[in-house]
Amino acid sequence: MDNRTVGILGGGQLGRMIVEAASRLNVKTIILDAPNSPAKQINALTEHVDGSFSNPEDIEKIAAKCDVLTVEIEHVDVPTLQKVQKVHPKLEIYPSPETILLIQDKYLQKEHLIKNEIAVAESVAITEPSEHSLSQVGQKFGYPYMLKSRTLAYDGRGNFVVKSEASIPEALEVLKNRPLYAEKWAPFAKELAVMIVRSIKGNVYSYPTVETIHQDNICHLCYAPARVSDSIQLKAKLLAENAIKSFPGCGIFGVEMFYLENGELLINEIAPRPHNSGHFTIDACVTSQFEAHVRAILGLPLPRNFTSLSTSNTNAIMLNVLGDKSVKNKELQTCERALQTPGASVYLYGKESRPQRKMGHINIVSSSIEECERKLRFITGETDKPPC
Ligand code: ATP
Ligand code: MG
Ligand code: MG
Repeated sequence: MDNRTVGILGGGQLGRMIVEAASRLNVKTIILDAPNSPAKQINALTEHVDGSFSNPEDIEKIAAKCDVLTVEIEHVDVPTLQKVQKVHPKLEIYPSPETILLIQDKYLQKEHLIKNEIAVAESVAITEPSEHSLSQVGQKFGYPYMLKSRTLAYDGRGNFVVKSEASIPEALEVLKNRPLYAEKWAPFAKELAVMIVRSIKGNVYSYPTVETIHQDNICHLCYAPARVSDSIQLKAKLLAENAIKSFPGCGIFGVEMFYLENGELLINEIAPRPHNSGHFTIDACVTSQFEAHVRAILGLPLPRNFTSLSTSNTNAIMLNVLGDKSVKNKELQTCERALQTPGASVYLYGKESRPQRKMGHINIVSSSIEECERKLRFITGETDKPPC
């Protein structure tokens, strides 16, 4: 479909699924990450770069080999991206380095969203972390509040719930040596997310609003569409679209939101890449989030309704498969049950099993959410009655 080579910074599961989507369109991809990373395992080219997306020399190496450079993770070295952009003026980098820079520091991201009049949870930078400064935050926000690392956060690693003044010393210890900010507690009824595709021309297209359920700060389930009213789904979609209109460059973005008990919607954070809450799109939508990303960064067609659910009564639940907490590979039993389940698809990422590590996901698609839930109960072992 396109004879340009796409370089991907990061070869984890998101990179792997971008490779899959690109391969179906005959688009060549090369990966920068450790040898045998999940994306490299399914792409036999020998031109990959072994190294790290945070190492300038490795980024320079992959930049010299591709026409379009993209990311599967936001924790990349942006100054080097800006440098390679100058060295290779024809190289296209999406999402734009400017956008990655704004998003990878969660506090800068917040400031950017506020400047663009997008609703976010109230927050404050912590320039000098100390018992005194954190107790002042407690007086301002009340307890609990969330202390967060501004950078390198994922799966809640980088977050600490400050429950009371007494937990401040522990918070300082857990997040020591990290740049911090504090966020007011968001008393959410649900967490919602919307995947947005932004085209080279700056048009935005949204996938259906979904509901994510987290366990231990890690996404556990994703319901598509979200179990909220049509008007809330629409409000979430508009909020996400407006937020992504404010970031230059193109590609896919994941927008995480809090739906508060008082009906308000606030953005939690944005990911400038494919996102866990968009995995359902592989089986439930006309075009997957991964293919949408490839199309967007290559300027390929994004026709009407390409982000829609496959049919008007398509419902889906995505279950993350995490490494079992005590027995290595035990999570594969869940996958075996999913293989016995009509309408369920298993995706494994080729990673070594470790407790709580994202090892894969399962998509369950059906014409009703109740049917999806019945199938889910069998897959998780809650019931032994096989779904028909
Ligand atoms: P991700 O893997 O999504 O990148 P992360 O490490 O960047 O995660 P956040 O998204 O900031 O972390 O937070 C993880 C989860 O913690 C949220 O999905 C939500 O459940 C909870 N959380 C975060 N901030 C708040 C808040 N201000 N109030 C209440 N709960 C919160
Ligand atoms: Mg995050
Ligand atoms: Mg998050």
